[in-house]
Amino acid sequence: MGDCVFCEIAAKEAPAKIVYEDEQFIAFPDIHPKAPFHVLLIPKKHIPSLNEVGKEDTELMGRLLLMAQKVAQENHLKGYKLAMHVGKEGGQEVDHLHLHLLAG
Ligand code: AMP
Repeated sequence: MGDCVFCEIAAKEAPAKIVYEDEQFIAFPDIHPKAPFHVLLIPKKHIPSLNEVGKEDTELMGRLLLMAQKVAQENHLKGYKLAMHVGKEGGQEVDHLHLHLLAG
């Protein structure tokens, strides 16, 4: 996984204001927010992108969506948008699977 900033955040080796955490996931605000509410949801497991997700990650991916629902509810978001960039050509800058949760 090399120098992965999101792995460092998950390991508390890099700073982030954690808004949600459980044994598998962590959520923190995007450092360059594109909306009034902009949080990134990541698995602690290093998966470079959706293209590297395997069948063994089926439950993890389902839980990622449920986590988005939970973070949205906890923050009283009435509506929100989820986005995932896949690959450099898809706009992905950080090579650690993450879901953008945007609102406002
Ligand atoms: P993506 O284009 O989907 O790879 O988005 C990566 C996002 O991560 C961008 O919106 C960045 O602003 C954000 N980002 C990069 N480094 C950090 C960091 N250290 N803390 C919080 N957000 C970050």
